[in-house]
Amino acid sequence: MPYRAEYIWIDGQKPTSKLRSKTKIVLDGEDPPIWGFDGSSTEQAPGSDSDCVLNPVFVKPDPIRGGNDVLVMCEVLDTDLTPHESNTRAACAAAAEKYADHDPWFGLEQEYTFFKDGRPHGWPIGGFPAPQGGYYCGVGADEIWGRDVVEAHTEHCMNAGLDISGTNAEVMIGQWEFQIGPVGPVELGDQVWMARWLLYRTAEDFDISAHLMPKPVQGDWNGAGAHTNFSTNGTRDNYDAVITACEALRRAHDDHITHYGAGIEERLTGLHETAPWTEFSYGVSDRGASVRIPWQVHREGKGYIEDRRPNANVDPYVVTRLITETVCSALES
Ligand code: ADP
Ligand code: MN
Ligand code: MN
Ligand code: MN
Repeated sequence: MPYRAEYIWIDGQKPTSKLRSKTKIVLDGEDPPIWGFDGSSTEQAPGSDSDCVLNPVFVKPDPIRGGNDVLVMCEVLDTDLTPHESNTRAACAAAAEKYADHDPWFGLEQEYTFFKDGRPHGWPIGGFPAPQGGYYCGVGADEIWGRDVVEAHTEHCMNAGLDISGTNAEVMIGQWEFQIGPVGPVELGDQVWMARWLLYRTAEDFDISAHLMPKPVQGDWNGAGAHTNFSTNGTRDNYDAVITACEALRRAHDDHITHYGAGIEERLTGLHETAPWTEFSYGVSDRGASVRIPWQVHREGKGYIEDRRPNANVDPYVVTRLITETVCSALES
């Protein structure tokens, strides 16, 4: 029997790329081959020279179609088979290889917001819900909107074989989170992008859309982030490496901030469990710091740290590349 392969890729929209996908019927016994698309429709090529190449890099069972059907995460190449300028995975893979001796692990907390009828899901027409306070990890029809989508998405991620490690309702009504990891830098990117595609696709069947905008509602409402938890064999062994990692992130703060997602200054205001984007700080158990050292890590003298700065709309390949390069190079010097 031929099977369906859903080819998923990241487009060239600026400042924030979005996901695209299309279906290929593949013959029985064959693997999903290299394929192509019209780059002039995705801001990846001019119409006069429009061909771009889809190179399969991460294949998983398709939990929605079932059977032998698969999801195929792709990287985009030019027709000479070198990485397209929108391809951030290639540089991530190079950093992962360069610093493989450090065995870096990443766990990313993907926050997102459901929208229905043009407003955050659960919000009354033309007004505001009760102020924040009861929604985080809440239960009950007065606090929770969209749990049916969350449960379906979680099952899909598990059935696809992704390393989803948890979910929770967030501080703002209609906002949720899932976590992927811990896995290596490239795998984290592949899995987060595939989990995002599954989120949009799952919500589609409920007539709801999911968004990664960092500050969906202005004012006294939490933004949406992508806290990135990180460790190396060094930090998993001793506290000196934990501090070296934090200090390296301090020195590279400006570079990281400019790559941590469009609109970061709207979200990192210093309010709503964030540190201001203009200053770097770290601390034990401190959810108002740029980087948090979890209390167990402080007590045991080893483990991982949480970079709280990345926006929900960040490119996970870019975050894991930057942290790997910044921290592992400092651990070597
Ligand atoms: P928070 O308390 O900030 O909400 P979460 O439970 O949402 O934390 O997320 C913690 C993340 O940290 C998970 O994705 C988990 O996989 C990841 N994690 C746990 N241990 C490590 C480790 N040693 N290295 C990297 N990531 C880790
Ligand atoms: Mn979390
Ligand atoms: Mn959260
Ligand atoms: Mn967190």
